[in-house]
Amino acid sequence: MLEALRSIVGDKGLITDQAGMEPYLVDWRRRLRGTALAVVQPATTAEVSAVVALCAAEGQPVFPVGGNTGLCFGAVPISGRVGKPGIVLSLRRMNRIRGIDRAGGIATVDAGVVLGDLHAAAAACGRQFPLHLGSEGSAQIGGLISTNAGGTGVVRYGPMRDLVAGLEVVLADGRVLNDLAALRKDNTGYMLRHLFIGAEGSLGIVTGAALRLQPQVSNTAHAWAAAADPADAVALLAAMQDRAGSAIQAFELVSRSQFELVRKHAERARFPFAEIPAWSVLIELGSEDATTALSSILEEVLGAALQRGELLDAVIAASEQQAADFWHIRHSVSEANKKEGMSITHDVAVRSSDVAPFIAAADAVAATLFPEAYSEVVCHLGDGNVHYILMFTHDYWATLPDPEAFALTVERAIHDVAARFGGTFSAEHGVGRKLTEELERLADPLRYELMKKVKALFDPQNLMNPGVLLAKAG
Ligand SMILES: Cc1cc2nc3c(=O)[nH]c(=O)nc-3n(C[C@H](O)[C@H](O)[C@H](O)COP(=O)(O)OP(=O)(O)OC[C@H]3O[C@@H](n4cnc5c(N)ncnc54)[C@H](O)[C@@H]3O)c2cc1C
Repeated sequence: MLEALRSIVGDKGLITDQAGMEPYLVDWRRRLRGTALAVVQPATTAEVSAVVALCAAEGQPVFPVGGNTGLCFGAVPISGRVGKPGIVLSLRRMNRIRGIDRAGGIATVDAGVVLGDLHAAAAACGRQFPLHLGSEGSAQIGGLISTNAGGTGVVRYGPMRDLVAGLEVVLADGRVLNDLAALRKDNTGYMLRHLFIGAEGSLGIVTGAALRLQPQVSNTAHAWAAAADPADAVALLAAMQDRAGSAIQAFELVSRSQFELVRKHAERARFPFAEIPAWSVLIELGSEDATTALSSILEEVLGAALQRGELLDAVIAASEQQAADFWHIRHSVSEANKKEGMSITHDVAVRSSDVAPFIAAADAVAATLFPEAYSEVVCHLGDGNVHYILMFTHDYWATLPDPEAFALTVERAIHDVAARFGGTFSAEHGVGRKLTEELERLADPLRYELMKKVKALFDPQNLMNPGVLLAKAG
């Protein structure tokens, strides 16, 4: 098998020593570890196709990995019931921007392109790619598509699904599905590409993508508002929608407990208030039109909310540097939590109008069932996505006889609260290996059954990332 792989990808594309393979065997938080025969790094779609065809013939599982920043163990190679160890398939060497079509608003790229590099390439052509998240220096287009990543710009531009205009996918038998025409209109039946978006590598390998670019937004304004209660932040969202509509590019709600950890652990964290408020709302407005007075809109809406007593305080960024400082603080939360202790991060979504009662209900459940923890909230309020985080100390975690089972108990309790509000347990991070039981438990049974049939159709041998998404497939 190794020699056959070497003949396809050459020495440059094959890692077999333990030290070289190590970063590909463990997840970003170093919580789950797997094993594999080799890490294979093809340089072209044709090589991916040959590698996958070889694996199909040999009955070897294929575990795709992008930047390995996923938070649900989706890229950890564990073959489980399949038996054979399988290969990790990394598209790191497929990092070419294939072309940028300015008027068509499309960037066609290899799936191994790092998101930050796409941002730079789009900017160089006077366009932007509007997906932004804390991992953008490492996460790759293939991983972002496979998890249907969200981030802070969803409120205006939608998640990755809305930004994909076409895909190139290597199927489980090695054939290449080419759907890169990137037409704005194409009503020719089932749009199969949507099955691969969010499939977490369980149906095939994304090797290329046509992505929608947007005009650059040179005119932006940022504010940091202090609220006493999440309900006030929801009222502010509605008022901002009335006045600014689609100019709202980000509307992020963060609890004091979370920002206290950023202050403790992050470098260069410059907060605009001496005291961190109970609830902070970070707002970004943007317009392609340089003459729109965005700061005046912020002043007007925030001023009215202050007068109504719905806000405690507000600061409008006075410079680009201050705006960058706001974002630096916001993007530092994951690293701060990683340094502090054992955080159980939930990725639920409810309607924006239900965010305040959801947080209250989750806090009540957590106080009763998990008094050892304290809660933090980081919420993309504009799209109802609440990262409700329960933080445990390392010392407490070390006393647990079965930490994974305990983590699942915690997650279930909070997911049940979201379900009470008609919400989902996975808004943007996916299911991975982490939440397969939750998918089976909480998904509509008919939908779950149809998903298993789709999996069997595209991957009859269950070799594409087995154990991810649908634990009982195959
Ligand atoms: C600091 C930090 C902040 C984050 N913030 C956000 C956020 O705001 N919003 C958000 O949605 N996520 C966020 N994430 C999660 C993560 O960055 C995203 O899930 C991202 O999409 C993963 O991309 P990746 O390239 O690292 O994929 P990986 O972690 O390598 O893989 C993710 C999944 O996709 C599969 N996969 C990877 N490449 C391919 C491919 N080419 N073809 C088929 N399957 C493939 C893998 O097998 C795995 O199942 C954050 C993570 C970190 C560490």
